[in-house]
Amino acid sequence: MRTVITGGAGFIGSHLTEYLLNAGDTVTVLDDLSTGSLENLRDVRDNPAFTFHEGSILDRDAVRAVISGSDRVFHLAAAVGVHLIVDHPLESLRTNIHGTEVVLDACRDAGVDLLLASTSEIYGKNTADRLSEDSDRILGSPLKSRWTYAAAKGIDEAFAHAYWCEYGLQVSIVRLFNTVGPRQTGRYGMVVPNLVGQALRGEPLTVYGDGRQTRCFSYVGDVIPAMVRIAEEPATRGLAVNLGGLQEISILDLAERAIKLLGSSSVVSLVPYEEAYGAGYEDMRRRVPDNSLAGRLVRFKPTTTVDTIILKVAKSMLSTASGEVPAGAS
Ligand code: UDP
Repeated sequence: MRTVITGGAGFIGSHLTEYLLNAGDTVTVLDDLSTGSLENLRDVRDNPAFTFHEGSILDRDAVRAVISGSDRVFHLAAAVGVHLIVDHPLESLRTNIHGTEVVLDACRDAGVDLLLASTSEIYGKNTADRLSEDSDRILGSPLKSRWTYAAAKGIDEAFAHAYWCEYGLQVSIVRLFNTVGPRQTGRYGMVVPNLVGQALRGEPLTVYGDGRQTRCFSYVGDVIPAMVRIAEEPATRGLAVNLGGLQEISILDLAERAIKLLGSSSVVSLVPYEEAYGAGYEDMRRRVPDNSLAGRLVRFKPTTTVDTIILKVAKSMLSTASGEVPAGAS
């Protein structure tokens, strides 16, 4: 397979690149290095089956040049991270909506299959016991920058579905629920690298709000093989499929577990949302996936526990080239 990965220098994209190279694919990464980095690809850069193109998904010519002649595309390039979205809502909207349209057009014209990476954010403030793919979306005001990512990704899904209906584009969508693991940066606010980094540095762990909001973190090593199986499963065409973790945990619990597991002398510091993200921030209180569709279609069964995730992230931070534990957004 000749595979193109947009956003392949990012956290998830770089793990996918490694996985597909190991599976025997030829992999071309298109990435503008705005949030990703070549450091993420250092283990594959000398692989003869790997090519890197620095470029934006908003650059129609660059996207077409890379996609024509390929067999399939994994579209992961996006402006992500709550801090980035709140600080740069225009970039979030432009990259995530126009960029995706450019990729969809190029895939349609080249007759190439597409897997679109979407997000559990699209469910918005729905706190259902289990969010299944047809659960309602409860989105906040479009005038709150925080919701631009959810709004844009929802439009991306609608676009992808429309290309499937009207052009027969072979497209599948995955909704990722807080995918975490080594190489994820805390720079744009992601909680696991942030808290683990703080614990390793002996700094206070910044838990936003009352810390009772919950997430189901999924380990990148569980998610990547399922993503690839979804891309290869014809029954997923035109569908969105949840890929989430197995354990619901509050952010306060997450912080306390990180301190304990890493033997850290840090303490937990509760930070008001307003201080963390600015006035009027609305969090998602709860986000629990129903993974049964992915279980049925591609035998998805996440196995990595939160404790293992914390230990793996810490180990990878301690082994960074500089030997320093990178600072997060705090
Ligand atoms: N969060 C936190 N401390 C941090 C970073 C994030 O308490 O240093 C909280 C954040 O407010 C949210 C949860 O952790 O409730 C997950 O945040 P993240 O940005 O990782 O993902 P998302 O909000 O998209 O689920």
